[in-house]
Amino acid sequence: MAMFKDIPVDVGVAYEGERIRKSDLHAELGGPNIDKKFELVRVRKKDEIKDEKIECIGPDIKEIQEGSSIPFGIFIEVAGKQIEEELEGVIERRIHEYTNFIEGFMHLNQRYDIWCRISKKSVKKGLDSFQIIGKVLLRLFKGELPFIESMQITFFTDPKKIEELWEETVKVYEERDSRARKLSDDDVEEFYGCDLCQSFAPTHVCTITPQRYANCGAISWFDGRAASKIDPKGPIYKIDKGECLDPFKGEYTGINANAKKKSLGEITRVWLYTVFGYPHTSCGCFEAIAFYIPEVDGLGIVHRDFKEKTVNELPFSTMADSAAGGRQVDGFHGLSIEYMRSPKFLQVDGGWDRVVWIPKSVKERLKDFIPGEIINKIPTEDQVKNLGELKEFLKTNQHPVVERWKEIPSEIEIPTGEELLIEAPMPTIGIPTTGGGFKIILKGAKIQAKKVIIKAPKKGS
Ligand code: SF4
Repeated sequence: MAMFKDIPVDVGVAYEGERIRKSDLHAELGGPNIDKKFELVRVRKKDEIKDEKIECIGPDIKEIQEGSSIPFGIFIEVAGKQIEEELEGVIERRIHEYTNFIEGFMHLNQRYDIWCRISKKSVKKGLDSFQIIGKVLLRLFKGELPFIESMQITFFTDPKKIEELWEETVKVYEERDSRARKLSDDDVEEFYGCDLCQSFAPTHVCTITPQRYANCGAISWFDGRAASKIDPKGPIYKIDKGECLDPFKGEYTGINANAKKKSLGEITRVWLYTVFGYPHTSCGCFEAIAFYIPEVDGLGIVHRDFKEKTVNELPFSTMADSAAGGRQVDGFHGLSIEYMRSPKFLQVDGGWDRVVWIPKSVKERLKDFIPGEIINKIPTEDQVKNLGELKEFLKTNQHPVVERWKEIPSEIEIPTGEELLIEAPMPTIGIPTTGGGFKIILKGAKIQAKKVIIKAPKKGS
């Protein structure tokens, strides 16, 4: 990507992945300290927008007080003969990529979760107006996606205006997502892949199916179809399903072959509907994490905006560091909120029957999709604060996971002269640690044996 001569800072792929620390910060736009923020793309008729118009409603960059965090919205309207509404989500996702090309501008996450930072250094160099950022975006969008014939960009920093627009933007996301809910993975001939996050997570490949939404929660199967049709050589492309090796786990030869090719051999198998074994890789912009809690043999869920420590004493950020980077980490799995609405949501692991803790705001958002018989058995931060309280809550409320505890015998007697092969009834868990490896804790168990053989599971089992 060549530098634009009339833009005061550099622009190019080299700046993707650039992090702006607090000490270098001119301003934070959106992010975890701000409740309402958004980015949205809408398709319009050509005569409804003014091509190349850039506007900022609210204070411009130079007027924002240094070091502050403010509400933020990016609203882009596009027109073009080939553009259908289905492309909105796809164009919207490119905001992440293109803003990150700008030296001294950092963009994380998507939709109602955006988190941007502008560096002091770049503001000093002259990046002091959204007009400049808009100009760069116009050029990149039109250059890379030639089907965009007209584009108008509005930046919002006025909190009142953002408050007014926020409800409406959330409705648009919901309408987009609900379309894909009518399809099942068995109904379609092909899935879609996305490599956009490889700049941050080189071995990460998203597989987007109707029932397993992209990790970022921004690209549906319909979005994938529209993107690959209009730009077949782009970062979102068709994956032939190939042979279905296991419909329950969600293993397909086409997905495996694509993951192997795109991760340069690092990832060879993917099981779509589980956090164990060969889970879908996690990039870094997943909306939430499903994490294994060995003490109760259940799964916790935590989303990006949850600022406290979770029930296992770890905050989202620590678990995100362990899961991210394009790896398959047994028991730590990045996912989208929309995937939790899918009937195939972690079906191999027990689905909602295996979930034992969830923040109350996520529970509220998903309340129509969590089965009625389990919803009150899953505690939130208001009901349990630690693992001891969690265990008690699950027992008292007869959570289905308690049944699994009974499967673990507390005492095993082995007849004299015989050997016992112990195979754990729960999946083998690799707890990510900085030094690698994992630990096994046997609590309250009394095992008598002359010899115990612990075998590693066969590859692929
Ligand atoms: S999370 Fe997946 S679908 Fe979303 S931008 Fe990244 S690679 Fe693409």
